[in-house]
Amino acid sequence: MALDSKIPSGPIQEKWEKHKFDLKLVNPANKRKYRIIVVGTGLAGASAAASLGELGYKVEAFCYQDSARRAHSIAAQGGINAAKNYQNDGDSVYRLFYDTVKGGDFRAREANVYRLAEVSGAIIDQCVAQGVPFAREYGGLLANRSFGGAQVSRTFYARGQTGQQLLLGAYSALMRQVAAGQVKMHARTEMLDLVVVDGYARGIVTRDLITGKIETHLADAVVLGTGGYSNVYFLSTNASNCNVTATWRAYRRGAYFANPCFTQIHPTCIPVHGDKQFKLTLMSESLRNDGRVWVPKQKGDKRPVGQIPEGERDYYLERKYPSFGNLVPRDVASRAAKQVCDEGRGVGSTGLAVYLDFADAIARDGEAVIREKYGNLFDMYENITGENPYKQPMRIFPAVHYTMGGLWVDYNLMSNLAGLFVIGEANFSDHGANRLGASALMQGLADGYFVLPYTLSAYLAGQEKVEIGADHPEVLKTAAEVRERNAKLLALKGKRTVLEIHRELGLLMWNDCGMARNEKGLNHAKARIPELRDEFWKNAIVPGSGEEFNQALEYAGRVADYLEFAELLVDDALHRKESCGGHFREESQTGEHEAKRDDDNFSYAAAWEFAGVGKPATLHKEELEFEYVKPSQRSYK
Ligand SMILES: Cc1cc2nc3c(=O)[nH]c(=O)nc-3n(C[C@H](O)[C@H](O)[C@H](O)COP(=O)(O)OP(=O)(O)OC[C@H]3O[C@@H](n4cnc5c(N)ncnc54)[C@H](O)[C@@H]3O)c2cc1C
Repeated sequence: MALDSKIPSGPIQEKWEKHKFDLKLVNPANKRKYRIIVVGTGLAGASAAASLGELGYKVEAFCYQDSARRAHSIAAQGGINAAKNYQNDGDSVYRLFYDTVKGGDFRAREANVYRLAEVSGAIIDQCVAQGVPFAREYGGLLANRSFGGAQVSRTFYARGQTGQQLLLGAYSALMRQVAAGQVKMHARTEMLDLVVVDGYARGIVTRDLITGKIETHLADAVVLGTGGYSNVYFLSTNASNCNVTATWRAYRRGAYFANPCFTQIHPTCIPVHGDKQFKLTLMSESLRNDGRVWVPKQKGDKRPVGQIPEGERDYYLERKYPSFGNLVPRDVASRAAKQVCDEGRGVGSTGLAVYLDFADAIARDGEAVIREKYGNLFDMYENITGENPYKQPMRIFPAVHYTMGGLWVDYNLMSNLAGLFVIGEANFSDHGANRLGASALMQGLADGYFVLPYTLSAYLAGQEKVEIGADHPEVLKTAAEVRERNAKLLALKGKRTVLEIHRELGLLMWNDCGMARNEKGLNHAKARIPELRDEFWKNAIVPGSGEEFNQALEYAGRVADYLEFAELLVDDALHRKESCGGHFREESQTGEHEAKRDDDNFSYAAAWEFAGVGKPATLHKEELEFEYVKPSQRSYK
């Protein structure tokens, strides 16, 4: 199937405005006749469901948490980008667009990125109107700080809890629609499959996580805002329950999965401290506004930090990248940390850590100022490590954090399956091979508040309304397959826990398809994943029954999907022989160990079509064209 990205014609600055006018509208009186399913109530899903409800559609919203406001977005710390230029430091829509295309290492679609930058200012206005308590300057204006990959300060924040505050805003908007009867909220309900009839997404099959009841929900369109798949690596900064199931199940029903190997390793996480750990904690990138990253100049220097004199410290980011210093993008900072640790200059008991030091900032601004900016992050660090970061540097190391890959969508955020829209981290759209810090919240809210309400309406307006009954054979078949799969999972009475198998998969992925990847390691993972999958289906144990609250069953289903998905991720990494952004193929690097792209052969989004478990997926390419930001070797020097 040919991939049509449906990018509107015309100059980039005019595309979205023109497109919005060209899109068909649904008459206000007709809107109530349409039913829309929104899976996910993170920033993307909650903003979409609230906006669609406000427009007059009948919305059914789903999440697996006990409340919509506990979606993973609540964990976001550092901030949200917008091109408001409040600092008068040279920012503009065009600069945000430029930084994002360059930051993504020229693997994103220009038109989408421009639109994202264009609507960014409206997001801040909307959130302020909702009462989101953004940090303010002395005079009352909204404050900004810097994030990686930008030389301007465009990041709006609410201390280190920006996601929580934004989500409370979106949640309020959502609950207003629930109270108005426009949105029906289904918490603690997990989507386990997508219903596709004649190529159109027509509904979902869910499991009530309290009673175990399997149900079918039908609609005129389905929206997935189900987040990312970082937990395929087992250890990540994501909430433990984040998973790939919704997008993977849609992929198995025909939606294309794009660029699954584009995973983001975040440079500033609390290092792994033991083999029993199952969750990693992020220390926000915002800390690199004031914290200085360093390691000892000498290999194997085990002196306590206070005994290493200034002249024997290597502030390697400032040394290598004088223009951007500690605020280089995440992929660059992560690789640099790995490199110094590989050289034997890492710190801490494992040697897999670097220092993030606030001594200079505290001496310059005073402890009170630093506490005001980052207090909750410092408290979190101290609670986890038992060390006081006001008195000694934090120790940090890269960890899996975000996934740029996701279901393929066109400019209208619709997948190749008609009526299936994908928003937020779940789609592949705007960040190319590397996301800039503070741009995920921007994208999720742009998609939900400002893009989807237009494009989904136009889709509905352009379709003949078709009523599918619960007794349609395809609906019955999909629900029966969900029941069968659950029964198969519950029949597993082997010797290994699902957690053990997930941990093994994660370690394999981290070692062979993590921060650096090469052909040998990828082939090793490719051979081992099917073996692990077999091991799971032969030797895992899943206790309990299906007709009850059974978290073991939930988890087993998610891990079973990871065991299929991991193979696609590795295949994608194997086929993309170039390095770009977070995808670092060791065979393709510059003399200075930076990622070396191969634009002649890989300037495309790789969209994969399911062909069966264990069978090679079919590759479809969306060629990328760069009319405005000409691809160049990224430099942050
Ligand atoms: C620790 C941390 C800090 C971060 N800080 C920042 C930051 O400062 N700035 C920034 O821009 N980004 C940040 N990010 C990234 C950002 O938080 C996420 O990319 C973003 O919040 C994802 O939002 P989302 O709405 O797409 O998905 P999520 O918030 O992950 O929500 C997913 C939703 O889908 C539901 N769901 C999933 N699968 C199913 C299913 N099968 N059935 C039913 N429901 C389902 C879940 O219940 C949930 O409601 C951070 C990420 C982490 C991990």
